[in-house]
Amino acid sequence: MIEPFMTPIRTIMTPGPVEAHPSVLRAMGTPIVGQFDPTFLKVMDEVKEMIKVPFQTKNKQAFAIDGTSRSGLEAALIALIEPGDKVLIPVYGRFAFLLGEICERAQAEVIYEEKEWDGVFSQETVIDMIDHHQPKIVAMVHGETANGQMQPLDKIGPYCQNHNIFFVVDTVATYGGVPIKVDEWGIDIAIAGTQKCLSVPSGLSLITYNDKVEKVLDSRYQKELGLSKEFRNDRHIASNYLDLSQLQRYWSSERINHHTEATSLIYALHEGLRLLLNEGIDNSYARHQLNDQAIVAGITAMGLEMYGDPETKMPTVTPIMVPEGIEAESVRSMLLEHFGVEIASSFGALQGKVWRIGNMGFSSRHENVLHVLGALEATLLYHGATLNRGQAVQAALTIYHK
Ligand SMILES: *Cc1c(COP(=O)(O)O)cnc(C)c1O
Repeated sequence: MIEPFMTPIRTIMTPGPVEAHPSVLRAMGTPIVGQFDPTFLKVMDEVKEMIKVPFQTKNKQAFAIDGTSRSGLEAALIALIEPGDKVLIPVYGRFAFLLGEICERAQAEVIYEEKEWDGVFSQETVIDMIDHHQPKIVAMVHGETANGQMQPLDKIGPYCQNHNIFFVVDTVATYGGVPIKVDEWGIDIAIAGTQKCLSVPSGLSLITYNDKVEKVLDSRYQKELGLSKEFRNDRHIASNYLDLSQLQRYWSSERINHHTEATSLIYALHEGLRLLLNEGIDNSYARHQLNDQAIVAGITAMGLEMYGDPETKMPTVTPIMVPEGIEAESVRSMLLEHFGVEIASSFGALQGKVWRIGNMGFSSRHENVLHVLGALEATLLYHGATLNRGQAVQAALTIYHK
């Protein structure tokens, strides 16, 4: 007899996955209907429209891709890249390298321009790089989860538009928690995910793109052999599963038979988006902002140091320097084991030196913030750190209780 698994209730204060909203989990228990059942098509159509709101776009195209956020990043980049195409990637953290990795595998010529991870680029610097390298595509990360920095994009995008360059942006860690202006910022393709500020389990990626991209897709469309023996295209997109030209036709009234949609995840996405739009995106941004203020006030009051430029800090991630002599992983384990609180470590050169507290979606709540601050203080004291005792939660309460 194999016993069913049990999971504890956790307070998840990482930059994803975060706690799924209870009503999202309930929506996932909705009975399955066929992928072309009219009731399901209605759910899909509503999802398409709702996706556009946090992107602040009038784009015709917006839909979900089955696979976590990186499936959307890959679908976006391979849709544009043909072997030898030049892609410029300004790097200020881990996820920019992921974009490059995807481009390299698609046989692009990738140019990395890396800076210190403790801040973002000035937009003028990026524009100079574009002038210098003359790429076909510029790919950037809006919010770098690895170091909690957020790149301003409102000048880079329009510059790309004026020079007929494609601008592809990873908005995975900001979508729903921080304003994103796809149209105003001149973003050709924006990609987001579900397990961050949407409070939906991971497994889907959200994408939107404009007519300029759609034209490329039309020129690369190839129908599957099993559906039609005509429609061959020698410039077809390298992946079948992540082929935006087919996915778009699957999500449109054409409804071509591509993959079997992940029914329960689409239910979850519908509910997550519905909750966000009912809250109001501006109210969601304000909630993330307030909880960020409380986290920062608490961490600072405790006497801990934050990593990175405070001017360009993401409201959804707070990176904290691990104090001298403290074992980063031992603190994380104690938080999880005794407080049921999860915080994150970081990547690359920051691994073991920086913790990250996430502040996203349903996890972005007063009680979670107060709980993580109290638990972190107690755990650090237990580990022998020198701190200002009893200050952190008080500082956060001062922010909340006006
Ligand atoms: C989380 C994250 C990703 C990767 O998302 P997956 O859903 O794990 O594929 C990519 N970019 C950024 C900025 C992220 O925060």
